[in-house]
Amino acid sequence: MIPVTKPHLPNIDVYKSYIDRIYQSNQLTNNGPLVKELELKLKQRWGVKNVILVANGTLALQVIYKALGLSKKVATTPFSFIATASSLSWESIEPKFIDIKPDDLTLDPKRLENIPAKDIEAIIPVHVYGNPCDVQTIQEIAESKGWKVIYDAAHAFDCEYKGKSILEYGDASTISFHATKLFHTVEGGAIVTNDEALATKVRSLINFGYTDGIIDLIGTNAKMSEVHAAMGLAMLTEIDSVIDRRKRLIETYIHHLPSELTTPLIENYNGSYFPVLFPDEKLLIKAVKKLESKNIYARRYFYPSLDQLPIFRSLEYCQISSKIASRVLCLPLYSELSDNDVKYILELLV
Ligand SMILES: *Cc1c(COP(=O)(O)O)cnc(C)c1O
Repeated sequence: MIPVTKPHLPNIDVYKSYIDRIYQSNQLTNNGPLVKELELKLKQRWGVKNVILVANGTLALQVIYKALGLSKKVATTPFSFIATASSLSWESIEPKFIDIKPDDLTLDPKRLENIPAKDIEAIIPVHVYGNPCDVQTIQEIAESKGWKVIYDAAHAFDCEYKGKSILEYGDASTISFHATKLFHTVEGGAIVTNDEALATKVRSLINFGYTDGIIDLIGTNAKMSEVHAAMGLAMLTEIDSVIDRRKRLIETYIHHLPSELTTPLIENYNGSYFPVLFPDEKLLIKAVKKLESKNIYARRYFYPSLDQLPIFRSLEYCQISSKIASRVLCLPLYSELSDNDVKYILELLV
């Protein structure tokens, strides 16, 4: 059986050595030593000022909305995982869907130009599949309109833009460390920001609103535990080879890709996904069935476009996103996959 992805499990002895430290410290959660160590290591890896670890990527989004005081209406992309938009609705913020660019499938900033400044409070673009958004144009428009920008960087572990970590841009970025993501802590995520005051506020919000023992904000509980941080620290010792392996598999996929198919991945992919575009939905469904008959499970990711969901259908229709969603398929990608598996999968596609 070949699934679309398999979580990477790091060397068990390395993992145990971190668990041993939890048994010694007897601290299981509440900003413990392993959470602090993982934050420091990620900060150094990306060259950013603040990494605040949280319980998952969805809470990372919810907390940053609160920290930035968003409450009314926010523009986002419909070509994403449901959590990008549902986290807004969950906080009683109305999502406004903005269509995507047909080449890299990220939010099309040209479509923001005609939105009156007071209609929305912020933009939540997504670096989908690790493709960097058109950050420069987004920042210019947001600045001229006075909008906040939060990048949903759930897929963008280790991505760079103009020579630095993509997590440097905007007011903040959020990332997910769910088991199915490139780098994981079983469940987990982070908020990244270079704004010190915002970071202080976020640290308070994820811990019931406590700052230095005093409650001065309405907070929630979004802390990462020491057990989750232990998995992250063990993962970190192997992540470079995991990424190398996945990038090599993507190269094999691209090298042997049938001429009918294209990939929306742009050049500097981070190894997080391998999406392909079929000429139409019929051919995609045919390929999915053929793969399933051989016990291979690709995934229609992302499908449907979020503007097509009944829960959001009253909102604007995004034609490009809807069409792309109907013909995009993510092919299996994980470090144990072999080059021969990849070639076999490709033979079944057309
Ligand atoms: C996975 C994902 C999330 C949610 O992260 P969780 O850690 O699973 O809560 C949010 N946005 C995008 C784009 C994702 O892929």
